[in-house]
Amino acid sequence: MKNIAVIGAGTMGNGIAHVFAQNGFHVTIIDVSLSQLEHAVATITRNLDRQVAKGGITEEQKKATLANIVLDSSFVDGVKDADLVVEAASEKIDVKLEIFDRLDKFCPRTTILATNTSSISISKIASATGRADKVIGMHFMNPVPVMKLVEIINGYATSPEVTSQIVELSKQLGKIPCVVNDYPGFIANRILMPMINEAVYSLFEGVAGVEEIDTVMKLGMAHPMGPLQLADFIGLDVCLSILQVLQAGFGNPKYAPCPLLVNMVTAGKLGVKSGEGFYTYTPGSKELVVSKRFK
Ligand code: NAD
Repeated sequence: MKNIAVIGAGTMGNGIAHVFAQNGFHVTIIDVSLSQLEHAVATITRNLDRQVAKGGITEEQKKATLANIVLDSSFVDGVKDADLVVEAASEKIDVKLEIFDRLDKFCPRTTILATNTSSISISKIASATGRADKVIGMHFMNPVPVMKLVEIINGYATSPEVTSQIVELSKQLGKIPCVVNDYPGFIANRILMPMINEAVYSLFEGVAGVEEIDTVMKLGMAHPMGPLQLADFIGLDVCLSILQVLQAGFGNPKYAPCPLLVNMVTAGKLGVKSGEGFYTYTPGSKELVVSKRFK
């Protein structure tokens, strides 16, 4: 594999593009939003600068990585030579079905179509294509350049050859692949999201404040980040979408999203990406400040 197309230039898309480009692949990043594309390159450049400053890579490696990336707002040109597409667009089933329908039309028949979905059925996404054997989940963790795991999800019809190729590719990227089956939330989010939802419920019911909830989980469970900070980092809209998929997929009310989470997303408080969630975020500042709403 040489040519990779990444669909979606948000939180995950820029990290996925970064890792492929740093490992010598030619990457085309595609997004419907030009400003998201520009933002992605700025983020990748900043993250590469950080790697150079820490001595992890050289200035030449940074330049080579950036030279491996092109931006494209026209879907057709961006995917027509792709050996692999990694879709990292918004966590909405309709968005993904439309993208996979188009990918099936415009990619060569040999192209493997991977999705970075956190929870949506791989088999359902594959049903939008005429190549379900070549559709697979390739679930990177956030932040992609740092996190080692890739959760690989076999759809109902994914071929074993495609799974082997994606396992090998993940190793080539310096990641540790873990293969799981296609049920709502797979493993990572089936276990993580109920914990985050319970943390939001604990805040909603006044059991404790934002800092107390996060401190108990950090110091008590040795988690590197508390669940509310992690939710901000993931994106509260993404967390809400995943909980809705779990609730609908299992038909079990235990996954019902906390009303506070729903309200925050409705109000546009999405966490780090919108500047406010349970905490407020100022560009360039590392200080963690609880949102005024929860003081
Ligand atoms: P995001 O909201 O930061 O970015 C989504 C991007 O997709 C936006 O730039 C948007 O403009 C673009 N987009 C929407 N429709 C599109 C289309 N039709 N064609 C091209 N681009 C389109 O979302 P994110 O957090 O990067 O999540 C992306 C995917 O990765 C989701 O499926 C999510 O569940 C998954 N994921 C997220 C995380 C996380 O921590 N945020 C972790 C693992 C997986």
